[in-house]
Amino acid sequence: QRPVTQASVETVAAAVAAGDHDEPAPDIIDFAAYRAAGGYALYEALRDGRQDGEAVLVALDSAILRGLGGAGFPSARKWRTVMAQPAPRNMAVNIDEGEPGTFKDRHYLGRDPHRFLEGMLIAAHIVGISAIWIYIRDEYPALRRMLLAELDVLRITWPDLPPIELRRGAGAYICGEESAMIESIEGKRGMPRLRPPYVAEVGLFGRPTLVHNPETLWWVRDIASWTLNQGTAWLAGRGRNGRQGLRSFSVSGRVARPGVVVTDAGITLRQLIDEHCGGMQPGHELYGYFPGGASGGMLPARLADVPLDFDTLAPYGCFIGSAAIVVFSQHDRARALAENAMNFFAHESCGQCTPCRVGTVKAAGLMTAAQWDAPLLEALGDAMVDASICGLGQAAPNPVRSVLRYFPHEVGVTSATAQEGEA
Ligand code: SF4
Repeated sequence: QRPVTQASVETVAAAVAAGDHDEPAPDIIDFAAYRAAGGYALYEALRDGRQDGEAVLVALDSAILRGLGGAGFPSARKWRTVMAQPAPRNMAVNIDEGEPGTFKDRHYLGRDPHRFLEGMLIAAHIVGISAIWIYIRDEYPALRRMLLAELDVLRITWPDLPPIELRRGAGAYICGEESAMIESIEGKRGMPRLRPPYVAEVGLFGRPTLVHNPETLWWVRDIASWTLNQGTAWLAGRGRNGRQGLRSFSVSGRVARPGVVVTDAGITLRQLIDEHCGGMQPGHELYGYFPGGASGGMLPARLADVPLDFDTLAPYGCFIGSAAIVVFSQHDRARALAENAMNFFAHESCGQCTPCRVGTVKAAGLMTAAQWDAPLLEALGDAMVDASICGLGQAAPNPVRSVLRYFPHEVGVTSATAQEGEA
């Protein structure tokens, strides 16, 4: 055993202070390589006045770029809302990727960070942003170190950039909620704000704020360029089952090849597994899946042909959110997954509203019974949805309701299959 010396204590302390968890540096396309391949051309055209910002907004609008952090709000409309507010305007980038099953932001940032940074600078330029904060979860220390270095390169290249500050999260799931993230950046406890006012009007340090997920910004350069060059013709053939565009799915669970899949909006789970994930793992048959992480509810195998996209899952009591697809098999129990999700929500509730703080704990307790009290769990879910002020409390009942609706045999309930939404 190695002796513990003062030097080794200091080394460990310094490493911990620096957030160094021995994660290897990501193998990225660096600034020089990105630029050599035509990167930053659109940003530089905007800076030089060769490209009109309004045309970029129109392009993003016609290609329907939506917020990919989970809410799906049209990006160009968000930019216009913030632009209409008085200066100074701030920007905050939300890399607090904490929804269970979601890892697409890490995937993109760990490979092609300048595509994200160019999207960020394009948005900041068009919207007239005075200062930018990038909020990154502490669990991504190598990405944080990489971003620090790449931001230095940008500042040397364009000394007139607005101030860009990188902030570390501290492991709270709720800080992925945009107003809680803003509180955290301001140095306060990360608790969601009541709205209105919306952060686009009164956000970071009281100023109008453009908040974006990094993947949304990652797509800005390509979607704007494709659409400026050829209109929306590039969208032809991208999208299935009546949906349009491309989506990134974080696929995990009992599939043979988990990972990030970029494919058509509206693809079904069955197509996703068969065409992109090498099928199910040997010995596993599809039993059900989470279409949108822990928050988005669960669906059974017989609903594996539903198009996966924003708005398509509401009739089934689910939503796609950040497209974290967690696949489970006959060896798993939906009730165990739902209990796990509820315990997670109870742990991560910020505690400021009673229906969420008390409701999640109460629900987690009720869910340990062999036979669930369905009316009580439904009533509790109604109170949480109606009276919680943010998405955590409002979405926490989703996995419970999915079990009651689609897997009632697991919890001794026989009468809860009424509204399947399949008609
Ligand atoms: Fe906090 Fe839950 Fe209320 Fe959201 S719903 S503000 S997490 S207590």
